[in-house]
Amino acid sequence: MTSDARETVIVDGLGLAQSMRSELAEAVARHVAAGHRPPCLAVVVGDDPASRSYIKGKRRACDRIGMRSLEHDLAVDATEEDVLGLVEQLNRDDDIDGILTQLPLPRGIRSAAVAAAIDPRKDVDGLHPLNAGRLLLGEPCLAACTPLGIMEILAHHQIALEGADAVVIGRSILVGKPVALMLQQQNATVTMCHSRTRDLAEHCRRADVIVAAVGVPRLVKGDWIRPGAAVIDVGVSEVDGELVGDVDTAGALGVASIVTPHRRGVGPMTITMLLTNTLRAYEERNAWRT
Ligand code: NAP
Repeated sequence: MTSDARETVIVDGLGLAQSMRSELAEAVARHVAAGHRPPCLAVVVGDDPASRSYIKGKRRACDRIGMRSLEHDLAVDATEEDVLGLVEQLNRDDDIDGILTQLPLPRGIRSAAVAAAIDPRKDVDGLHPLNAGRLLLGEPCLAACTPLGIMEILAHHQIALEGADAVVIGRSILVGKPVALMLQQQNATVTMCHSRTRDLAEHCRRADVIVAAVGVPRLVKGDWIRPGAAVIDVGVSEVDGELVGDVDTAGALGVASIVTPHRRGVGPMTITMLLTNTLRAYEERNAWRT
């Protein structure tokens, strides 16, 4: 190790998620004790094996905090009209607080059209144009869950963002763009990188914070990381049957201040923020605000 060698904290995303979920469970229990129905999340899911496993995790997380969850399975040959009809029905159902569409949807269905059809007050994924626009304007909104989880991790570890140089790799509407806006709102100077970026390594070497949301295994090497930088690894890829992240975690150890592991890092926080958004949608939509 060089003179810059340091103890890198491996973020315990699961631990942070669990402590936040205990607070959510208490909030749900207070509503139920007051005689109200529990919050309810509706999930629209296509016939995809990975989606099935993600949905199982979300259902279990809802159960554990006393929240209801309902699944709506789409047939392989479901049309966009079918899905829009289902969304309309869920929009009208007063007992549903949050609507989530688990991607990918069946072939030929435009996910953006489905996102735009969801009642913005039930848009717990934060993908409706109104919520995305409000995030851009810095107004209160339901925002995307993974970026919210990343911001919670950075806050929990007291990572200073004011004036910090942050590099976000990936510019999707689900992760890259919203997290870049959130970092900027915290007064970081944000550089957004993507597949056409020239010399990604040089951008990373200047960064105090790196958020890698790409899906390219171990793209970010240890020698791209500035000593003391906070490194958030969002990407998940499968290599030889094993899940790996966008960051060479071994290379980050002893250099980064914190690094999220590709398992039990950002993932559990994404689900936690989905629960948080659903509770918020429930409280804001109903008369019994707390
Ligand atoms: P996405 O929509 O496929 O976007 C990937 C982004 O990476 C694009 O902006 C793309 O650039 C950029 N990119 C691709 N190759 C690159 C390269 N070699 N160098 C620099 N940038 C490159 O993916 P996403 O939905 O944002 O998800 C990103 C990753 O995070 C995936 O692995 C996904 O599974 C994972 N994820 C994890 C969680 C979690 O909770 N753990 C949640 C959401 C997503 P262009 O725009 O130029 O194409």
